[in-house]
Amino acid sequence: MTYLQKIIDDVKLKDPDQPEFHQTAEEILSTIEPVLNNNSIYVKSKVIERLVEPERQIIFRVPWVDKNGELQINRGFRVQHSSAIGPYKGGLRFHPSVNLGIIKFLAFEQTFKNALTGLSIGGGKGGSDFNPRGKSDLEIMNFCQSFMTELYRHIGQFIDIPAGDMGVGEREIGYLYGQYKRISNTFEAGTLTGKGISYGGSLARKEATGYGVLYFVNSMINYHGHSLTGKKVIISGSGNVALYSCKKAVELGAKVIAMSDSDGYIYDENGIDFKTMHNIKEIQRKRISEYVNYFPKATYTKGRGIWNIKCDIAFPCATQNDIDVNDAQALIDNGCFAVGEGANMPTTNAAIKLLLDNNILLAPAKAANAGGVATSALEMAQNSARLSWTFEEVDSKLKEIMKHILK
Ligand code: NDP
Repeated sequence: MTYLQKIIDDVKLKDPDQPEFHQTAEEILSTIEPVLNNNSIYVKSKVIERLVEPERQIIFRVPWVDKNGELQINRGFRVQHSSAIGPYKGGLRFHPSVNLGIIKFLAFEQTFKNALTGLSIGGGKGGSDFNPRGKSDLEIMNFCQSFMTELYRHIGQFIDIPAGDMGVGEREIGYLYGQYKRISNTFEAGTLTGKGISYGGSLARKEATGYGVLYFVNSMINYHGHSLTGKKVIISGSGNVALYSCKKAVELGAKVIAMSDSDGYIYDENGIDFKTMHNIKEIQRKRISEYVNYFPKATYTKGRGIWNIKCDIAFPCATQNDIDVNDAQALIDNGCFAVGEGANMPTTNAAIKLLLDNNILLAPAKAANAGGVATSALEMAQNSARLSWTFEEVDSKLKEIMKHILK
């Protein structure tokens, strides 16, 4: 048995109920053998054994009161994975599927992604099994305040800087930061990123992950002699990453023909209208199925199946394991030539192998979606300097960072 296989086996033995963490550990460890062969010091100093064990894992109770006055109890998590090159940095996910294994996988991936940006940020991730779907603003506020009442003691601008992820956007960051400010009695803006512009947020942060994915994929396909002009694109999800991927894809000349949520997907052969989709999802906070009320020629289909639509480029921007081997085969059969991972670990390891074996260009998540965290670091820089940069300044820095990552 090889050295790396033994580490993977130990990881599985120690935490047998964490399949997503096993998956990411297997994916990363299976690629680093050449590095270890040339650097025996890494083996001697047990760098890999350290990497698969987070520095700290925090689990806490989150009691909160719902709109009927009933007490609800959720579980909160923060995994502080690595502070080797800077303070822990990574988002918070509110989704019913959240458990320790999922937060551990995300924190592990975050450490590599953050290092790739070239900025001095370590890796962490957190969240809760709280389901924000259908909750009122008041319930969201109650939950966020209770969540922060415990989390605040573990974070800080030089310790650990959370941000958004699934189910956590500008509204939630606002409630979280407000509570942090009250408890800590400081205006320490650099403790959370993804804030509103009026209290320390950065222009272009909201757009950064999606825009970064498109900058990365555009450069990658240009290098291989392709362009986005006229390309048919599918984007899974319709949240923060998906929406701003859609906006930038259209700006760069592509046509976005399908998008989804966890209930189903929209197909519009004329190209999805970003403004309408943004209004439905971000302003009205409704389901994607509403889109056909504005564009009757578009169709809505319940359930999975978005990857069976013929396209040139696929952007999985929803959640982990969105593209399995069957989906990958459908993409290949339909002539898709590139996949840009906007979500974290959206492609199973078997599907990645199939795509690569068929010479599909693959922009891996740890590189392609790093624009979000990189721009969070730019938000921290502005907070430290007590300055606000223009949208164009931040966007041009984001472009440079994505270029640097691709190189
Ligand atoms: P959001 O909560 O804003 O959006 C998530 C979207 O994915 C929603 O449309 C949701 O639909 C959909 N979705 C969730 N589960 C499924 C499913 N099983 N099938 C189809 N669609 C699904 O999250 P983000 O856009 O912020 O995050 C999306 C991904 O990008 C995640 O993997 C996240 O970790 C990653 N990411 C996010 C960054 C950021 O800056 N926000 C940075 C880097 C990575 P529904 O409303 O039905 O749940």
